[in-house]
Amino acid sequence: MSLFLMVCIKEILEGGRAYVFPRPARCLKGGCGSERVWGHGYVGIWYYGYESLVYMKRYRCADCGCVYTIRPAECWPRHRTPIMIIMKRISHRLQEGVWDISRGVTRQAQGSWLRALKKNIKIYLGMDFDLGLMEGFHELISSGWIPVQRTG
Ligand SMILES: [Zn+2]
Repeated sequence: MSLFLMVCIKEILEGGRAYVFPRPARCLKGGCGSERVWGHGYVGIWYYGYESLVYMKRYRCADCGCVYTIRPAECWPRHRTPIMIIMKRISHRLQEGVWDISRGVTRQAQGSWLRALKKNIKIYLGMDFDLGLMEGFHELISSGWIPVQRTG
């Protein structure tokens, strides 16, 4: 399971060994709820826009064995690129007509975000939504959707 906890990548990198990760108070698995959720090592994850691996703490429930990884607030589930970077790159493409492929964020990745965004606007905001793609991006977020999530 992945826990959405408000951790900030920058603070983790700056804090180094002194950084104190938030900790789940109890196991979230249905029917468990155990309070014996202990640290379970770290996993190194590469996030775009940062110069080094980010070591995220993991937790494991001593009772049901469920393992929890923490996800930074900057990123959506299953995305390794911070939301702000995704937003800025799409906005750049729309305004300048070219991709900004600096800092390792590929044209392919950005193309798939843009395609997904167009599709999600049609699906979730409706065919007659005509306020533009960036407005659609924000509208999807405020409705609880991930604008660049690929749908089947
Ligand atoms: Zn448990």
